[in-house]
Amino acid sequence: MDAAAADQTSEGIVPEAVQRRLLDWYDRHRRRLPWRALPGETPDPYAVWLSEIMLQQTTVAAVKPYFEAFLNRWPRVADLAAAPQEEVLTAWAGLGYYARARNLHACAKAVTERHGGRFPDSESALRALPGIGPYTAAAIAAIAFDRPATPLDGNIERVTARLFAVTEPLPRVKPTLQALAATLTPQARPGDFAQAKMDLGATVCLPRNPKCLLCPFEDLCAARAAGLAEELPRKAPKAAKPTRRGVAFWLTRSDGAVLLRRRPPKGLLGGMTEVPSSDWTETGPGEGAAVGAAPAQVSWQALPGIVRHTFTHFHLELTVWSGRVEESDGVEGFWVSLEELGAAGLPSVMQKVAKHAIKGA
Ligand code: SF4
Repeated sequence: MDAAAADQTSEGIVPEAVQRRLLDWYDRHRRRLPWRALPGETPDPYAVWLSEIMLQQTTVAAVKPYFEAFLNRWPRVADLAAAPQEEVLTAWAGLGYYARARNLHACAKAVTERHGGRFPDSESALRALPGIGPYTAAAIAAIAFDRPATPLDGNIERVTARLFAVTEPLPRVKPTLQALAATLTPQARPGDFAQAKMDLGATVCLPRNPKCLLCPFEDLCAARAAGLAEELPRKAPKAAKPTRRGVAFWLTRSDGAVLLRRRPPKGLLGGMTEVPSSDWTETGPGEGAAVGAAPAQVSWQALPGIVRHTFTHFHLELTVWSGRVEESDGVEGFWVSLEELGAAGLPSVMQKVAKHAIKGA
């Protein structure tokens, strides 16, 4: 009997075969990542949690410098809990999805206050913490505590959909993929198994041009057998994103300093530093409303061009108005010099506004 025949029955793929093949592959091909324990080392739950929060909707390459900076600055969860929220948001600036940073800080406080600075090791206790949903709880339970949990990220969705040739589209089919993935989770080395699936999805079972000839499931995979590998997982068409428009006010003072302010704590970019701006609406504010929203009544000049940025649910187009005051009395916000702007913690969209304004000035 050949290997594939032994590892498949009329009922389908044999989970033990998937586990054995994938863990063997992982022992040879695992990625080295700054947050990942080396073979034989005990994972640090704080590092695992920090990396999992940062990696949500963000690439490994983008996360690495932030992860290292956070860990250097706040080596333990209690250090992060003790930091002022503004400092955490400023250190997060540029990584996007800022609700994560606010929840990160709230979670560090909860772990310190409720759990004495030690992360709980069960999925249910992890899910009770701020910013930890089902995926992150399963990932931490598996990776940090070697619990037989089944995290389902984009990589694991893809590997699972292909291995079982699941053709229904995401996101509706997610519960099916979760259940199928759970049938494979081993009792031994579940943390390595979860990371092995992530690594296989990131390096072999790629969205386009999967490297099936290098895959430990090459002769087991139902999508490959059916010639469907590259088509899966299917995705339901996304609704078109609307466009919102607004005006950003680049106000400088006679000494060259520029006006910034902090956004309200809740909502989009909550608590982040910004260049003051009008509301962002589909029609834009119109000139009269924009003047009313400006931080000072000065002679404003619209700079040529538009700053474009895309958020999860909409595109944004900002016109930048430039103005100048001699004295900053009565102007709400705080002033920073152009040299200090890089350290002000501006989110990406506001970095674009600053660049546009400096270029156009
Ligand atoms: Fe993915 Fe190909 Fe491996 Fe199937 S055989 S899991 S499609 S890389």
